[in-house]
Amino acid sequence: MKYLHYLLAASIRRLRKRYAKTKYLDYYKKTLEFDGPTMVFTHDIDEGYEPNIDEIIDMEKKYGIKSTMFLLAMSHPSKKWISGNSKWDFQYHANFIGNSVKKVVEEKKIIDDLIGKKTEIMRAHQYHLPDLKLVKDYFKADSSYDNWTKLTLFKPFLTTLGLIEFPHLPEIEFINLYKGKGENIKLLYKDIVDVSRKTNGLIIVLTHPTSFKKWGRQIQEFFMIQDGFKIKTMYEIMDEIRRKYKIKYQPRFL
Ligand SMILES: [Zn+2]
Repeated sequence: MKYLHYLLAASIRRLRKRYAKTKYLDYYKKTLEFDGPTMVFTHDIDEGYEPNIDEIIDMEKKYGIKSTMFLLAMSHPSKKWISGNSKWDFQYHANFIGNSVKKVVEEKKIIDDLIGKKTEIMRAHQYHLPDLKLVKDYFKADSSYDNWTKLTLFKPFLTTLGLIEFPHLPEIEFINLYKGKGENIKLLYKDIVDVSRKTNGLIIVLTHPTSFKKWGRQIQEFFMIQDGFKIKTMYEIMDEIRRKYKIKYQPRFL
């Protein structure tokens, strides 16, 4: 029943802002299982300000973790910063808000050029992706589906399009439910961790640079100190699951 609060808050937010109008389940094919509990740390770099993202990198270095950063064309770190942190996994943060797919593909090239290779995974900015079909020719996986507004029980799934969907846990709702210095949220996250441990679940943590400064750090650290999880990047889990399930899907323009 603890999830109910989140579902309610997320539903209200969704009605108000119409952010999460994505029809992923139209393409649901089957749930994909990992061999053990797995965790991925991701960041949507909506504000490519380098002092903030340096703090993220510093903390990950402390725990020996490489995260995945989704980069937005309109606000991204410098090429110098990217090459200085080239061991991190960089993927594409697609902005569909007011943009056609043509524009989104053009902007993908900016990020691909910046990191020096083609991004294969995307996440939609504000979880706003009109149709998964629009991106299937350019990506092998998507991670725009958020676990607060649409429960998928922390498992990725294969779509009928060939693309894999990796649902993530955003920290956004924290803003509405931040009480007791986050102790209430920690209890909820603890439940999520316990269930994932028992069911070989996949937890994809999402924090943003600005909120990282305020309380995203505590969320991320909370997940980092949990035992029993393999920590990987998005690219690594995609590679692993494609091999395990023999997914041969090759997007047309990748
Ligand atoms: Zn975003």
